[in-house]
Amino acid sequence: MELFDVVIVGAGPAGLRCAEMLQPSGLSVLILEKNGAIGAKICAGGITRKFFNIYDPPQEILEFKSNQTLVTSDNSEFLIQNTEPFIYTLNRKAFGQWQAARITASSVQIRTGMLVTQIGKQAIEVNRNHKIGFRYLVGADGPNSIVRRYLKLPSRKRIITLQYTVPSENEKKFEVHIKKRLFGVGYGWVFPHGSYFTVGCGMSAGSMTPGQLKKNFHQWLIETEIKTNGARIESFPILYDYQGYQFGNFYLAGEAAGFTSGLTGEGIYPALASGTAIAQHILNNKSAKEQIDEVIQHKKTQERYLSLFQHAGFLGNTLIRATISLLHTDSIKKYILKGFS
Ligand SMILES: Cc1cc2nc3c(=O)[nH]c(=O)nc-3n(C[C@H](O)[C@H](O)[C@H](O)COP(=O)(O)OP(=O)(O)OC[C@H]3O[C@@H](n4cnc5c(N)ncnc54)[C@H](O)[C@@H]3O)c2cc1C
Repeated sequence: MELFDVVIVGAGPAGLRCAEMLQPSGLSVLILEKNGAIGAKICAGGITRKFFNIYDPPQEILEFKSNQTLVTSDNSEFLIQNTEPFIYTLNRKAFGQWQAARITASSVQIRTGMLVTQIGKQAIEVNRNHKIGFRYLVGADGPNSIVRRYLKLPSRKRIITLQYTVPSENEKKFEVHIKKRLFGVGYGWVFPHGSYFTVGCGMSAGSMTPGQLKKNFHQWLIETEIKTNGARIESFPILYDYQGYQFGNFYLAGEAAGFTSGLTGEGIYPALASGTAIAQHILNNKSAKEQIDEVIQHKKTQERYLSLFQHAGFLGNTLIRATISLLHTDSIKKYILKGFS
């Protein structure tokens, strides 16, 4: 049986970042990815300035940047504006491949087409026929994590999403539409990427049935006159049920741990930050805790607001209106822009 110091399940942003940070240590690291290629993921690709605290990627990965975002509700709208850009989109496939190319140490291997099918205390099974042993196991395998299932953690808090990736020559702007009537506890978005844009919606599971959400999403596309130009509708869950990240010699990173924000669905930055922190934890570096605490704190603050919204009942629309009108206040605007940094 092959044996590695660290086996990482999943080559998304969290798994690749964790492996990259383990490189200099010389520990033997194996990343297992079920897909044949790295990087493809159903995602709107939105990032904020916080991302640049971790990476400064080349231009071809960043597809769009903007210093404004339009926020609307059923009967009000507000343009969040700043002098400097604060919101960007990246190409997930190009980003994944760029991250993978940063892994050059011979002690770290990436293997694609490797579906982890079973987990044990000291070894995993791959493609139902091959056993690999580990000292540490990192589950960076996204919202349907097999490692999380092995740890028997509940996965109750989920966002249901629907999205089109639409080729388009027409310039789009960043838009966020908080429409309770259509998306329940959730929102619709338009994220520009240059030669295409993503248009989608997400809602906390339980707000309404997925079938009703799909109907409402299409209703909204008609109301806003957004054409999907023959694109295919896609759907993937988002898990935000955080229950911890270390379980003995097992770790959970990124969305497998539920680090994603339940309010905004932002998961790329938390995946990178938690991948970094877990590598440092394995290497016994004291700064690991601070980094992960910051992600958890930010997530908690956002989810307090989410909970308010979930329990607002018929007052939900009033809460949305109040939030949008608060955006006119300079101090609130500053606070929100700080959250992007
Ligand atoms: C529609 C949609 C829009 C989104 N928009 C945004 C956005 O605009 N901004 C943002 O920040 N976040 C967004 N997110 C969330 C973001 O995509 C995720 O939070 C982020 O990708 C999490 O990274 P990760 O590395 O933890 O997991 P993932 O990116 O999900 O990577 C997990 C990897 O593990 C692999 N894997 C899974 N199971 C196995 C197995 N058994 N064996 C081997 N490999 C396995 C998968 O193939 C995958 O490559 C969006 C999500 C959705 C669904």
